[in-house]
Amino acid sequence: MNLILLDPDDIAADGHARVRDPRRLRHLHEVHRAAPGDELTLGVENGGLGRGRLLHLSSDEACFVVEQLDQPPPAPLPVHLVLALPRPRMLARTLEHVTALGVKHITLLHTRRVEKSYWQSPELAPERVREHLILGLEQARDTRLPEVTLATRFRPFLEDSLPDLLKGRRGLLAHPGMATPCPRGIDTPSLLLVGPEGGFIPYEVERLLEAGCEGIHLGERILRVETAVTALLARLF
Ligand code: SAH
Repeated sequence: MNLILLDPDDIAADGHARVRDPRRLRHLHEVHRAAPGDELTLGVENGGLGRGRLLHLSSDEACFVVEQLDQPPPAPLPVHLVLALPRPRMLARTLEHVTALGVKHITLLHTRRVEKSYWQSPELAPERVREHLILGLEQARDTRLPEVTLATRFRPFLEDSLPDLLKGRRGLLAHPGMATPCPRGIDTPSLLLVGPEGGFIPYEVERLLEAGCEGIHLGERILRVETAVTALLARLF
């Protein structure tokens, strides 16, 4: 937690911010080893970044004087990530990593090799998804929450959503064995599609290419979803 991310409701009219939830308090005690008088980086959810001075810290409350919250958060990546729904633990880690890297639009997609049971996972509950996004924001000192959409059926996604998502965006389909190496250092708005642990099936690859996506590869090593996404984002932007 390189940033104490505040809900606008945490800040009182007197300019004092109070943190009461056990996770942030534990972190302040155990990782920051914070003490009254310390200056820490604060941010407001979907707002600015700044500094705050810790007034007091107890087992049930931390109180800060907010000094200023007028710095903009880091620039987002110009990408909409379409991720075939990974297994719950991988989903949690991947959401955290991609949020820390600056992704602001995520669609979780059903494909043939996504296990149907993953859609029933408690990790997909909005408050659990939000927890992972917040961890990513706190890690990267960002304040803007990504927006996560669920696309639980492939065909409707392909026919109804994809054409709009591809308007003004370069579609990039990450799939081992494609002809083109993943481009480097682009700044074009993009739509990046990453498959499930078993990969996209040939039918899906054909449809996505037909819809206007470019197939790209990262070399002959087949990477786990969370590694592939990180490598792709790092190399693309
Ligand atoms: N067994 C699958 C690979 C699944 S890896 C297969 O052989 O197709 C999970 C996802 O990570 C893939 O669908 C792809 O989107 C991405 N990925 C992993 N390694 C990659 C590579 N070397 N090139 C491009 N994409 C890769």
